[in-house]
Amino acid sequence: MELHKNSTKRLANGIEMPRIGLGVYKMTEPDITLQAISTALDNGYRHIDTASFYANEKEVGEAVRNSKLAREDIFITTKVWNTDQGYDQTLKAFEKSLELLGLEYVDLYLTHWPIKETYVDTYRAIERLYEEKLIRATGVSNHHQHHLEAIAAKANIQPMVNQIECHPRLTQVDLRQYCAEKEIAITSWSPLARGGLLEEPILQEISSKYGKSPAHAIIRWHLQSDLIVIPKSITPSRIIDNLDVFDFELSAEDMKRIDALNLNERTGMDPDNLKF
Ligand code: NDP
Repeated sequence: MELHKNSTKRLANGIEMPRIGLGVYKMTEPDITLQAISTALDNGYRHIDTASFYANEKEVGEAVRNSKLAREDIFITTKVWNTDQGYDQTLKAFEKSLELLGLEYVDLYLTHWPIKETYVDTYRAIERLYEEKLIRATGVSNHHQHHLEAIAAKANIQPMVNQIECHPRLTQVDLRQYCAEKEIAITSWSPLARGGLLEEPILQEISSKYGKSPAHAIIRWHLQSDLIVIPKSITPSRIIDNLDVFDFELSAEDMKRIDALNLNERTGMDPDNLKF
């Protein structure tokens, strides 16, 4: 697979989703957030991953407008939060997100977590937003196979993306396999395990062989695994550096060594055991 800065993943409906994006969770200080997103857009990112829960949709929209880029050249994902779920509530929450973003449409809208009583109805509302052309692609986040099956039983349009926690300590092989069969693209959240993998000796050894950093090796592992990846950084130099992953390729053997770091270890919650 030939990968470059502008590589995209074609979703089931033909929409092209940039394979690398900036995650903006825990960016709460407006000026710093705006600066981080602008740095990303100025340096080649074309995909921003936000959520109503992150309380920075306003800054995301502002950075998009401040950039000299055409709206259609930037891919924006946002998510409906747990307390806003259900059919009518999701439609309302979307309207609020759109208003905060100050945009006319969102590229991808996701159910943030599968809240037992509401996630199927939440996804029905996302389907409606798609039919109304207010979003370009439908999706979910933190959905296990059984959640996706429950949605599939009711939906006319299957989710095109599932955003899940995924990194070398949690490789999610079975869920990835199921999603590949159903043409559901995977986005990896906490792709660097929230920074917790950067001291891992095997990753240090592998990355140094290529003259790269552990962060580069991990991001490259996601990309070569056909995963969409959204590393977060508030630090301008890291934002730029995380995109510097297109001048090397991990060998098949190194990919296997990274796969073998899996411990099924989560940094976040298990979607079947939510503590909300
Ligand atoms: P990441 O795995 O992306 O790690 C972010 C941490 O790594 C930050 O502390 C950052 O520091 C640090 N970091 C980033 N790049 C480098 C680098 N090159 N060298 C050293 N340190 C680095 O964690 P996130 O949890 O933020 O996940 C990424 C995105 O995924 C989120 O921002 C969000 O968009 C999404 N997400 C979605 C969830 C969901 O439920 N759907 C849940 C969690 C995240 P610093 O910022 O200080 O530079």
